[in-house]
Amino acid sequence: MTESQPPAGGTRRIGRPGLPRSFQARLSLAFVTVVAITLAIVSGLILYRLDDSLYHQELDNLNVRATAVANVVRLLAVQATGNQYVVSASNRLNPAIASMFSGEPTGSDRSLLGNIADQVAQANVSLRFGSISAGDVDETFVPVAQAPFAASLAVAPQPRQARDSISTTVQLVDTADVPNFPWALQVTLSQPYTTRASTLESTAGFLALIALGAFIASVLAAAFIARRFSTPLRRLTDAARALAEGDLDRRVPIQSERSATREIDALSRQFNAMADRLQESMSIIRTDRDRSREFLADVSHELRTPIAALRTFNELLQEGAADDPSTRDEFLESSSQQIERLDWLSQNLLELSKLDSGLLQLDLRPEDLRATVESAVEQASAAARRRGVELSLDLPDRPLRRRHDPQRIGQVVSNIVGNALKFTPRGGQVAVRLAADATGVRITVTDTGVGIDTSELPRIFERFYRGSRANEARSSGSGLGLSIARSIVEMHGGRIEVESRLGAGSTFTVILPAESLA
Ligand code: ADP
Repeated sequence: MTESQPPAGGTRRIGRPGLPRSFQARLSLAFVTVVAITLAIVSGLILYRLDDSLYHQELDNLNVRATAVANVVRLLAVQATGNQYVVSASNRLNPAIASMFSGEPTGSDRSLLGNIADQVAQANVSLRFGSISAGDVDETFVPVAQAPFAASLAVAPQPRQARDSISTTVQLVDTADVPNFPWALQVTLSQPYTTRASTLESTAGFLALIALGAFIASVLAAAFIARRFSTPLRRLTDAARALAEGDLDRRVPIQSERSATREIDALSRQFNAMADRLQESMSIIRTDRDRSREFLADVSHELRTPIAALRTFNELLQEGAADDPSTRDEFLESSSQQIERLDWLSQNLLELSKLDSGLLQLDLRPEDLRATVESAVEQASAAARRRGVELSLDLPDRPLRRRHDPQRIGQVVSNIVGNALKFTPRGGQVAVRLAADATGVRITVTDTGVGIDTSELPRIFERFYRGSRANEARSSGSGLGLSIARSIVEMHGGRIEVESRLGAGSTFTVILPAESLA
């Protein structure tokens, strides 16, 4: 099977060809397109409406003039016939009328009809005489056999006037001509001079000018608005890029309430929150990494010291030191102490890795907590004696049977008591107390030792953390004891609290809840 190959020939275009790539440009384009479409529609509608209304207005005017022409022609016709017929019963036109409208009776340049066309109609005029035949439904105009009389408009147009293609026909029926047959007249006016075309033209020009102005304004407004819209996005992109390049301090500036858009504002805030968390995580990871390094250095140091001592004892014993029983006993005693220390270290490391990987399974048993605490304190009594510290234990009278992992809780007590002994100078006291109430069980370890600085208190449970006062006791600590103790107590659903005053001593309280132990 062949994998799909990227298209040959270099750069690959994303998106539709011709469409700008930047958000700002697309926003501007969309805005300008909407404005252009709106302008085109509005201009078209205005012109259409104007044309329509001008058309009807001019047609009305033409009708008025056509009626006037018809009335003038009727008067002239009636006068010309001298109370004779205008159109005879056999539908023939009175010859006097025919000569009046076709000849040049006044001797002037223009015919009578030409004058009417120029001065009254202001349009081409066509006259048709005829009679009316009353049909079943309607009256019909029956024109005389003679061709219609016509005259074209000959005067020059007024400024802004032009020929218009409109035309109208009015019909006039004269019944007053009794006893003659009632006759009828049709007057058609066409191609008058109007200002319709020029009005439309000038309006269109004016509209185009306004549209151009509006368009330019919209382009500027679009550029401004799009820039405003896209600025926060650009800031977000910049911040994201900076973050990706490792600048974890970079944040997106939050805009003022007034100018911010809700979505962008929410996005910016979320981005900043994410950057905060990222920075926090990175600093935790860095601190952990630094501590791990320190811890590894410490561990290798811790391992090297007893191993070197063991090797020395071994060599000395081989070289004959074993011959002297007291020297041999001393060496063997020191060797066993070093082996114990090695064992303690490896146990702690193993414990830590189990806690880290979540592999540690509690062995919960409903046993007497007094026994657990007592055994841990007893184990520490030898060390207390050695250090000259008074170790006391206060247990309840009645058994305290609660579900717990005796070995682990014993370890917790050992760690806390071990610390108390370690940080209490000769002549001091360490008191261990076990008590129960409705809320649960409390194991309290109080010492009269060096105490812990308030600034260090929040950190003493951190893994690998060794306080500034731990230097003197460095060889016996690696900053794991309290961290392990806390993990074990939390696995039991409890917590550890600490109160301390520098120079006055400390009190560690392990609180195991009643319900999880029941
Ligand atoms: P370590 O094994 O080094 O003692 P821990 O996790 O048990 O590590 O303790 C962490 C630090 O807390 C110690 O290095 C010490 O500074 C401080 N600390 C713990 N217990 C006491 C105490 N009883 N008195 C004073 N400081 C203490």
